[in-house]
Amino acid sequence: LSNQQNVDCPTFKLLIVGDGGSGKTTFLKRHLTGEFEQNHEPTVGVDVYPLDFITNRGKIRFECWDTAGQEKYSGLKDAYYIHGQCAIIMFDVTARNTYMNVDTWYRDLRRVCKNIPIVLCGNKVDVPSRQIKPKHVSFHRKKGLQYYEMSSKNNCNFEKPFLYLARRLAGDAKLSFVESPALAPPEPYIDDIDVDCLQLLRLKLSS
Ligand code: GDP
Ligand code: MG
Repeated sequence: LSNQQNVDCPTFKLLIVGDGGSGKTTFLKRHLTGEFEQNHEPTVGVDVYPLDFITNRGKIRFECWDTAGQEKYSGLKDAYYIHGQCAIIMFDVTARNTYMNVDTWYRDLRRVCKNIPIVLCGNKVDVPSRQIKPKHVSFHRKKGLQYYEMSSKNNCNFEKPFLYLARRLAGDAKLSFVESPALAPPEPYIDDIDVDCLQLLRLKLSS
């Protein structure tokens, strides 16, 4: 029965790109059903995580394509991008070069996927010593992308990129998630026991 439901469930290929070490794999593994069902696409060398979300209009599935580390050495092959329907570009707010490379990731993506919705994610906001502050992040404005700050370690804003993409794909700005997916428990950062994501966001708003 559950397979039958999966077949009927609207499914979208989501590409996740960004420099190696940004936290892409950690992010996808937060979603526990995705981790459990993770399967391998050996021809392209990617892991595909089918992540399900329950919306007010039914279930939606993102088939998230994650590289098996090839992004560290060179660009990704077109076979990775082809038929991508939405994307996340991730950088690490504690490593300036990962933000500098967002432009390259964006261009590689757009070369194959002309019109798909894209979310830019600044990850690791749980780390107090960040190099890229919110005021430094401007790339998304020039390109009309959505931007979220997040942490794959403490689940901060985990659902935001998926909700944004689901709304764009459904053409319904009011679409909502009616159930939170099971997530791996937050991991406290060693230097960061008492600074949670909300405090960081408040700092951002007041600066
Ligand atoms: P990928 O190469 O983009 O897939 O990055 P990984 O998911 O392999 O993560 C690279 C490293 O960053 C790992 O040591 C992760 O534990 C760490 N990491 C990932 N996300 C976060 C985060 O939100 N906060 C912190 N502090 N570390 C993170
Ligand atoms: Mg990875």
